[in-house]
Amino acid sequence: MTLEIQVDRDSCRGARACVRRAPGTFSLDGHGKSTAAAEPLEDEGTIRAAATACPFFAISVRETAAR
Ligand code: SF4
Repeated sequence: MTLEIQVDRDSCRGARACVRRAPGTFSLDGHGKSTAAAEPLEDEGTIRAAATACPFFAISVRETAAR
């Protein structure tokens, strides 16, 4: 099982809540929008907590079958 993390760039307002909670997974790009790393460094619980912390509900996390 792997996690698929998606950030809705239109909804992201650069609030950085995700970056503060999971800096090994989320970072802001040059446009101030969050992007998710291809290889997240935090565990699932931390990543889900970071997604929940987004005040604009811009992050979705779902489980996918292992490749
Ligand atoms: S917490 Fe939400 S709005 Fe803030 S940077 Fe992360 S995705 Fe964007």
